[in-house]
Amino acid sequence: MKSDLIVVGAGPTGTFSALQAARLGVEVTVFEEHDTIGFPSHCTGHLSLRGLKRLGLDLTGGIVENNFRKATIYSPSGCKFSVEFSSPVTCIVDRELFDKHIGNMAVKAGVEILSGTRVDSLLLENGCIRGVSLKQRRKAAEFKSDVVINAEGVASTLLKRVGMPTLDPQMIVSGVEAEVDEAENLNLDCVEIYLDRRLARGFFAWIAPRRNDTAKIGLATVEGDPRRNLQHFVLKHRIAKQKLGRSTIRSIVCHPISLGGPISRTTYGGLLIVGDAASQVKPTTGGGVITGLTCAEIAGSIAAKAILRRDTSAGFLSEYEKRWKKTLGFDMWLMRSLRTMLNRFSDKQLDQIVSRCDKLGLAEDLKDVEDVDFQGTSLLRLSKRPRILLSALYFLKASLF
Ligand SMILES: Cc1cc2nc3c(=O)[nH]c(=O)nc-3n(C[C@H](O)[C@H](O)[C@H](O)COP(=O)(O)OP(=O)(O)OC[C@H]3O[C@@H](n4cnc5c(N)ncnc54)[C@H](O)[C@@H]3O)c2cc1C
Repeated sequence: MKSDLIVVGAGPTGTFSALQAARLGVEVTVFEEHDTIGFPSHCTGHLSLRGLKRLGLDLTGGIVENNFRKATIYSPSGCKFSVEFSSPVTCIVDRELFDKHIGNMAVKAGVEILSGTRVDSLLLENGCIRGVSLKQRRKAAEFKSDVVINAEGVASTLLKRVGMPTLDPQMIVSGVEAEVDEAENLNLDCVEIYLDRRLARGFFAWIAPRRNDTAKIGLATVEGDPRRNLQHFVLKHRIAKQKLGRSTIRSIVCHPISLGGPISRTTYGGLLIVGDAASQVKPTTGGGVITGLTCAEIAGSIAAKAILRRDTSAGFLSEYEKRWKKTLGFDMWLMRSLRTMLNRFSDKQLDQIVSRCDKLGLAEDLKDVEDVDFQGTSLLRLSKRPRILLSALYFLKASLF
């Protein structure tokens, strides 16, 4: 069995890279271990509208559940800082429908998706990846290809198996995502972030309301049991309990988030690594869909070019790494530095920072952030403004002392 290009994983980054490659005329087969694309979903699906537009993803048919033009951050003791835009900036999507939508686009472009098929390992021949070995309905088989795109997500099992560098284990947080009903006292235009080291050390908790009294909530933490912490958040957190105290959790899924920034190497002979498997995730917010899709678009086109030119060497494929680094490298570096600083702050310092941002009127400047996915570039553009400069100095000082 052979295909020009094999993609491991039918998550959004897998099927989107498959779509790009198929559009350029190569034969693509995607292997997905689950029977259904997008299920089970572990993700809130909070995405930037600008990012979706940039990627040409026009979402219809109930995929978008709500739009937001405001974000509020609560400090551990309840100080509040809000940024409000004049029109919606982000949305939440139904991740199962979203993943299926991209999968359908890929199938229409000629991609074959084989679900219920688990890839067990990468086939190595003369130092190059030349296909995969897989298990389909308990039967083992080998499937050859010119290039493999590894979009297996945060588990990174295949990379670990061949001894390739993978995610930084120190920077992986345990996430939990839940859907609740009977949420109340929520502004439907606003997504809420809660900083609290006892519940969400190394990250935060969140509430993203939908328009039918339900909400998507979650948190991630480096220590403790995220499910227990989420129960505590719902029932005991002094602000959240006013909104969620009467809710019932309808579904709950745990999954890790990699906040360490991209892995050191994303190309080898015959192999490209994209999405969560490459930790192409914003270290500040844990959002990996738009950044992963941005890299997947590049991966699909470089893989196709390599196959059509019959040069699938590490040298040719390294163009993928050069291009995604040019697009996202600086932002990822700055977001990782911000995450490292944020992780150092005590709850008391987080209180002071949130209250200082509010008093300084920082929201006025942040309203002009052009792109929430490119946080480094956006902040750099605003860095000459006195309030931004003052806040940056305050932030830096607080992280050092
Ligand atoms: C709690 C939580 C909340 C999140 N919220 C957001 C958010 O609001 N916004 C945002 O942008 N991001 C969010 N993320 C991150 C987001 O979910 C990921 O960045 C995104 O799903 C990455 O897409 P992917 O295609 O790289 O990987 P995945 O979506 O994980 O897809 C990988 C696919 O590969 C399949 N697979 C794995 N191994 C194999 C194998 N060996 N053989 C065959 N198939 C295999 C899996 O079944 C899966 O379908 C969140 C993450 C968590 C944990």
